[in-house]
Amino acid sequence: MSNEKNLSGLPLSRLSEGLCSGAFSSVELVRDCLAAADRLDGGIRSFIEIDRENVLQAAAASDERRAKHAQLSVYDGIPFGVKDCIAVKGERLSCASKLLAPVKSPYDATVIARLKAQGFVPFGRLNMDEFAMGSSCENSSVHPTANPHDLTRVPGGSSGGSAAAVGGKLIPVALGSDTGGSIRQPSAFCGVVGLKPTYGRVSRYGLVAFASSLDQIGPIAPDVESAAVIFDAINGHDPMDSTSLPGRESDFASAVRSAKSLNGVRIGLPREYFSQNGLSASVGKAMDEAVALCRKLGAEIVEVNLPHTKYAVAVYYILATAEASANLARFDGIRYGDRKEGKDLIDGYFKTRGAGFGAEVKRRILLGTYVLSSGYYDAYYLRAQKVRTLIRRDFEEASKVCDLLLTPVTPTTAFRFHEKSDPLQMYLSDIFTIALNLAGNCGISVPCATEPGTNLPIGVQFIAPAMAEKKLLTAAAAFELGRS
Ligand code: GLN
Repeated sequence: MSNEKNLSGLPLSRLSEGLCSGAFSSVELVRDCLAAADRLDGGIRSFIEIDRENVLQAAAASDERRAKHAQLSVYDGIPFGVKDCIAVKGERLSCASKLLAPVKSPYDATVIARLKAQGFVPFGRLNMDEFAMGSSCENSSVHPTANPHDLTRVPGGSSGGSAAAVGGKLIPVALGSDTGGSIRQPSAFCGVVGLKPTYGRVSRYGLVAFASSLDQIGPIAPDVESAAVIFDAINGHDPMDSTSLPGRESDFASAVRSAKSLNGVRIGLPREYFSQNGLSASVGKAMDEAVALCRKLGAEIVEVNLPHTKYAVAVYYILATAEASANLARFDGIRYGDRKEGKDLIDGYFKTRGAGFGAEVKRRILLGTYVLSSGYYDAYYLRAQKVRTLIRRDFEEASKVCDLLLTPVTPTTAFRFHEKSDPLQMYLSDIFTIALNLAGNCGISVPCATEPGTNLPIGVQFIAPAMAEKKLLTAAAAFELGRS
């Protein structure tokens, strides 16, 4: 008979209460997560690896601290999953790439160090699209991950493992990274909350770089409050990341707890996001309902324009690939990765990178090298940088007439495996999430409906100006409460 208490999918507030009152121990909680993974992950395949011994040891250490009243925080002993591009000391750090399969991290990313300092327990390596390039987790070199709500469909990407593990209730929370939507899009597909913080607000030290001017780490969680708890722990200046912003705040979760309504909040609907071809009828209807709910909760709704939205996907695929081609140049088998010997140095590079990188990563390196090459730099890279500024200005203009924006997260619900075989089709699935990485502000994906007939989750995206996470999280929490 199973002794499971089904704790693995509970929000952090409940887990913290249970641990603090002694209703269960961290070891019991972690055992539940391991049992859930044994039971469900054969089908979902969200994890690449779980070091059981390590996890149980860390949980036992947490229980010992509590027994001595020396707990590091009220969350001491709660496990969290980690996307395979964020460094945890002693664990693999492969970015789901063959090239980095043998690599183990010698140090903790700043976000990991900060969570460990509160007693959180790192729990396993979560699957992703190779080097975070993709929207479906099909680009993982390890295995694909399935959507926990329908195993014939993708969980989204690139943080597909993180969203599937939380959405499938295998673990309470996880970290993901978002360069063009990789936290928000899979969160919408898997029915969970995903926060993309303001660029620079969470340290990137220990995150394997994809496109450094866009990448941000953030939480994927069962509810807004849990996401806020993790954000409380991980945000703030870090001298190890030169793009890190000053300051640190730790009262997001308490602000979320007191969120009740949207009274006095002005929400803008960007016209361009609702007139997109490709927005499915079910997502369109869910957006109408989300807007109606915001009104009912007291928000004032206004229409706004983000006129340069139509360039966002093109600009992103120039800038992100340019940065990726430079960032991935270091993976040559000499300092990192699975080295293949060649007859000379250059041949060795060809063999190592040829065998180690998957097709999508190679495509991006080629594109990025092309747009940076002399003769094309001005026409593509430089021009894209200029349009990026126009996109950022659109958001600044909009913020003069409203507090937040509301948009869809994705044009459709989770699609089937192999449904998007043309790369451009896949790139277009990020059409609603990419602009805000280019602008650098913050956004959150919150579940808002399930699709009639399929029961697949649909998410709504709230967007706020840079550094306005408190406004963003409290509005998202009021919306979540209004739905329940
Ligand atoms: N899907 C987008 C891409 O393929 C975004 C990825 C991400 O945010 N890491 O680049």
